[in-house]
Amino acid sequence: MRIASVAVSNMKALGDRLFDYCVPEKLRNTVRPGAFVLIGFGKADKRTKGIVFSLRDGEPERKLKPIYAVLDNSALLSDEAMKIAEYVTKRCFCTYYDAARLLIPYGCDFNVEETVSALPQENGAAPMSPLEEEIYRYVSEKERVAVTALLDSFGDSARMVLGTLRSKGYITTDADVKQNVGDLLVRLVSIAVDGKTLAEILKSKRTGARQAALLEYLKEHGESSVKEVCYMTGASAAAVNGYIKKGVLSARLEQVYRLPKITESESPAEIVLNDEQQAAFEGILSKEGFSPSLLYGVTGSGKTHIYLKLCEHAVNSGKTAIVLMPEIALTSQVITRFYRVFGRKIAIIHSALSAGERADEWKRLKNGDAVIAVGTRSAIFAPVSNVGVIIIDEEQEHTYKSEMTPRYSARDVALFRGKYNKCPVVFSSATPSVATYSKAASGAYGLYKLTKRFNGEPLPSVTVVDMREEQSKGNTGIISEKLYDEIAGNLKRGEQTLLFLNRRSYNWFISCRNCGNAVTCPKCSISLTYHSENRRLMCHHCGYSTEFTEVCPTCGKKALKFFGTGTQKVVSELELLFPDARIMRLDADSTVRKNSHDEILSAFAAGEADILVGTQMIAKGLDFPRVTLAAVLLADFTIYSDDYKANEKTFAQITQVIGRAGRAELSGRAIVQTYAPDNRVLNLAVSQNYEAFYKEEIELRKKLTYPPYCDICQMTFESEREALAREAAEAVANECVTVRATKYPDMPLIGLGPSQARVLKVNNVYKYKLVLKCRINKDLCDLAESAASWFDGEKRFQDVLMSVEYNPENIA
Ligand code: ADP
Ligand code: ZN
Repeated sequence: MRIASVAVSNMKALGDRLFDYCVPEKLRNTVRPGAFVLIGFGKADKRTKGIVFSLRDGEPERKLKPIYAVLDNSALLSDEAMKIAEYVTKRCFCTYYDAARLLIPYGCDFNVEETVSALPQENGAAPMSPLEEEIYRYVSEKERVAVTALLDSFGDSARMVLGTLRSKGYITTDADVKQNVGDLLVRLVSIAVDGKTLAEILKSKRTGARQAALLEYLKEHGESSVKEVCYMTGASAAAVNGYIKKGVLSARLEQVYRLPKITESESPAEIVLNDEQQAAFEGILSKEGFSPSLLYGVTGSGKTHIYLKLCEHAVNSGKTAIVLMPEIALTSQVITRFYRVFGRKIAIIHSALSAGERADEWKRLKNGDAVIAVGTRSAIFAPVSNVGVIIIDEEQEHTYKSEMTPRYSARDVALFRGKYNKCPVVFSSATPSVATYSKAASGAYGLYKLTKRFNGEPLPSVTVVDMREEQSKGNTGIISEKLYDEIAGNLKRGEQTLLFLNRRSYNWFISCRNCGNAVTCPKCSISLTYHSENRRLMCHHCGYSTEFTEVCPTCGKKALKFFGTGTQKVVSELELLFPDARIMRLDADSTVRKNSHDEILSAFAAGEADILVGTQMIAKGLDFPRVTLAAVLLADFTIYSDDYKANEKTFAQITQVIGRAGRAELSGRAIVQTYAPDNRVLNLAVSQNYEAFYKEEIELRKKLTYPPYCDICQMTFESEREALAREAAEAVANECVTVRATKYPDMPLIGLGPSQARVLKVNNVYKYKLVLKCRINKDLCDLAESAASWFDGEKRFQDVLMSVEYNPENIA
């Protein structure tokens, strides 16, 4: 008998595994690894989706349920895709199914609706209870009833009744399955008769002028879409159908792709590299097989140009390529550059596309119409085979780590795919992560440097402004005197300015001058911020919002005061200081509409504004030739965050902002405002000395045992009852200690906590964490898994959600 190991949808992560099903004879040829199948699960044999992971032949130990149907008629998941899914399952503590689902877009996935229908009631059938009878009658009156609809009418207990009705032979269960987004099809017609017959039809008196035009058009142009022929000849669709019926024309359906819009500019240019770029390009390709490398080049040195060349090389060798960008805001500029060279050989993958576009871009890659996948994090799962190069731009960015289950790291998946395809994997940055740079420094990764800007200009000159002095001079705003002068100069010369601030909304927090209490979210341990656009106080964690009145919710006095400046307030300050300037804002609030990102950026690029204010969205990668001034309005946010990566992030952020200015003929200036002008990291960033920064930072990491000197395994425990979350964390900590002592006494392991998460309460749920400094290997995974399954067996923690994450982007 053929047995399939199947990943089942909608499982809990703890305790998930592959389940065995038997493959019925009629499905023997269509059930293959990677197939989406319809199965029954649990006592109620609930119809649900599954994905086949592997097949074997043998005799099962107990009776197996059959696979009912195969849902996808073309193989959606390749062998490589299944390998990636297995890898993600192990590394991300998620279900097999959720891992596999990463590999296809939502639009290609299936929606399964469980249905029941009545069987004819035969003589002698077992008697029914009144409720059974009622439900049976309800089902008999319709041909097929969706189980969800039935449960809506009869309540959840009806599920049991369905079970008995089925076992008594009164009803049968089935399922309606449809793909979330269907293919977009066009109808094509062509002439189906020989030339002589056609000539006769054309001559016939009964053939009207428009009908003749229709046939002449098809005779001349061959197969065409119905829409096109009707448009060009004025013939009606009815006329076309008439000819199809008579067999004069034949018709077929063809899939057309929904292509995302790409802003085009300039004509294709041949990619010619300068000497430094050429050396890096050749270095990256110099090794056979899997070879990771770091492309470390200052901003504006032409890293993107090397990506183009690497992709061209891959395509010319009959291979494919994957290019990852950290943010959607960046992709449109880069996509335009790729499009200019490769046209629609590129496919775009990011979340701003419609479900149909995403599905179709995915299919174009899958069937080889497109060979270069360009996109954000999820593009690492692009269905390309025979990959020739994988490129990760701005590799240090936190956006490569998913914040949703499965919490995969696109960087790790890139390495996995690099090994599978035996190809180069290029990590690229002007400010590499300490972890990646240490790999390059030790020789584990190749290291290629670009030291000069392509335009030959020096990097912008940077001025640090001490905001404490501004305050003592009586300037309480966010624009220092120096910055004011520079912006004024830029406005006069018609040059553009970028102002960066890592806080959206109007302010940071609000407190009461009477009672001193801060206004916090009722559901989270977080301050509310004011949004001037809708005049509401909002919580950035749970989305709670309330209308703003000046009355303090604690003491009732009209005494609320704003503290700190967010991007919305920056814009109001600028409007007062520079009433004639044209100002735009780019942050999570100004880009809620689809395409608004692109619209703001292209308007700014077209010179429709003088100043662009924004959050990290504007700090990276953007290439605006007319920007000559870039400023960090307040560098202190990242400096003072308590994350072990704080220094690395400060360095990267300042470097990136500086890198936005003076990228073309005009040379640039940068300003960094801070209350900590003596901070070491800040000064190293200002002098653009990455290597000195790296040396100091790696020493610090070693002394404190942080990555790359260890890995981190983080366990979190969430519950609506704070005490329970804490107890669970303590209990699992003890369990880890026990398992280690008995099974792995030599395992290097430092436990921190349990302690409260940085934000203790979100949406009325409390979170505690347990942090293990460790080495991720099989033993450690075993330890984490056995602690997790022990926890799963503890009834008292039933209402606590435990999650495990390896090397989280931020410690919770
Ligand atoms: P990076 O990605 O390192 O920030 P870019 O690739 O965006 O740098 O290059 C900066 C600017 O220099 C861009 O406007 C780019 O078009 C131009 N440039 C870089 N390399 C070349 C090259 N080899 N030929 C022509 N223009 C180049
Ligand atoms: Zn909240």
